[in-house]
Amino acid sequence: MKLSTIAATLAELGAKPTQSLGQNFLHDQNLARWIVEQVGIQENDTWLEIGPGLGALTEFARERSKRGILLEKDDRLIDWLRAQFPELEVIHGDALDFDPRDLFPRGPVKVFGNLPYYVSSQLMFQFASEPSPANGFVFTLQRELAERLCAGPRTKEYGAITVLLGRRWVAKLLRILPAHIFTPVPKVDSAVISLMPREDDSLPECDGALFTKLVKAAFSQRRKQMKKLLQLERWPEICAEVGILETARAEELGLEQWVALTNAASGAIGDHSAKAQDLKGEIFDIVDEHDNVIGQRPRGEVHREKLRHRAVHIFVFNKRGELFLQRRSRWKDAHPRVWDSSAAGHVNSGDDYAGTAPRELEEELGVSAPLTEIGSISACAGTGWEFVKVYSARHNGPFRLPPAEIECGGFFTIAQIERWIEARPGDFASGFLECWRTVRDSI
Ligand code: SAM
Repeated sequence: MKLSTIAATLAELGAKPTQSLGQNFLHDQNLARWIVEQVGIQENDTWLEIGPGLGALTEFARERSKRGILLEKDDRLIDWLRAQFPELEVIHGDALDFDPRDLFPRGPVKVFGNLPYYVSSQLMFQFASEPSPANGFVFTLQRELAERLCAGPRTKEYGAITVLLGRRWVAKLLRILPAHIFTPVPKVDSAVISLMPREDDSLPECDGALFTKLVKAAFSQRRKQMKKLLQLERWPEICAEVGILETARAEELGLEQWVALTNAASGAIGDHSAKAQDLKGEIFDIVDEHDNVIGQRPRGEVHREKLRHRAVHIFVFNKRGELFLQRRSRWKDAHPRVWDSSAAGHVNSGDDYAGTAPRELEEELGVSAPLTEIGSISACAGTGWEFVKVYSARHNGPFRLPPAEIECGGFFTIAQIERWIEARPGDFASGFLECWRTVRDSI
C-alpha cells in the first residue's frame, strides 16, 4: 500500500495510527510482496494474518489463496477490512485471546504478520507452542527480537526464547527492514524471520514439558551456574552424559545439549526408534469373536495376521471438561503421527483390561487417577481387530510424555474435537474414532 493511500484511507476512517496498538503501516509494496512470497502460500492453503492493519500484506496473500483469516484488534479497521476483502474471514479481537486450537480443523495453517511489537514474543509462543496448528511462520519483528531467535550459544542474544522455539522450529533471519518503510516511522529497525518445522531427524526427541521447565529455570539467572539453578540429582553424571562442565551456564548449551540434558534428567532412553522396535517382541493374548482367550502370539504376528486381541483407551478430562489428546510419535509401527486417545495400549498376555488401564495411564502420561469404564467396542477393522474397553479419568496435568510413544499432546474442548473430526478424520487414529463414536453421547 502506498503512503498516499494509507493517509487517504486513515482520513476516510477518521483514524490516526495508535501507538498502543503498535500501528506502523508498511508502505513499500515491493517489500510487502516479498514478505508474502516468503510465506510460500500455495493455492488452497489456509493462512492466518495477525494484525492486517490496512491490508499491506493481505492484498498479496489473497492473490495466492482465498482461504485466509485476518485477526485484527482495532475496532476502527474491521468494517473496512471486511469490505476490502470480502472473500476472507475477518476475526475482530485481540490475537492474544484467540485460541489456536480452533485452527486444527482447517489443517496446517501458514501464519504471518507484521506483528505489533508490544506482544510479538507472546504471540509467537501462543501460536508455535505445542500442539501447534501451524506449519510455518513468517513474521516481521523488532530486529533485536529477530536476532535473539536466530542466535547461537555463547552470545548475549541467545536466550530461553531461542531454545524453547528452536526445539520444534528452525528460525532464519531473512532480511533487515529499515524503519523508514513504515508510517509512522518506528524508533527501531525491523527484521523478517521465518520459523519452519524442524526436520524430524535433526534433533532427538525429549519430554517437551521437562525441556521447557529446565530451559526456563536455567535462563532465569543467566549468569548463575545451572548446577545451582536446576538442583538436579546426579548432576556430575548428567554433565558427563551431556558433555558439559559441571560449572556450565545456560548460554553455553546448544540445542542438542538441551535435549540431551532433558533426556538425562528424565532417565529417558536416547534412541527412541530402538525402543519402539523392542515393543514388537511383546506377547498378546488372542481372542475369539466373543472375547474369550484362545491363545498367545507375538505382537508383530497379531497385527500382520489381523488376529483379534485386546486393548484399552483412556480419555483424560481436565476440570474444564476438555479432553487430552496425544499425537502419536513418528516411531509407532501403527498410525504414526496421528492424534489419539489420551492414553491407549494393548492388554499383554496374562493381564486383563482393568489391570492394563492404570498401567497405561502411568506409562504414557506419568500419572495415576481413578478410572471409570465408559464403553466397550467389539473387534473390527476400525480398532485394528482389538476388543477395546474405554475408561475415563480426571486429571489437569502436567503429564510426563514418553518421547518414544508420544510426540506431543494437549487438552481440546469437545466442540473443537467434533469440528476437527468432521473436517479432517484422517488426522486421527481409527481406533480413537471408534472410541469417540461409542462414548461421545456419554461425555
Ligand atoms: N500488517 C499491517 C502492515 O504491515 O501495514 C499492520 C502492521 S502493524 C505493525 C500491527 C497491526 O496489528 C495493527 O493493525 C494493529 O492494529 C494490530 N494489532 C495490535 N495489537 C493487536 C492484537 N493484540 N491483536 C490483533 N491485532 C493487533
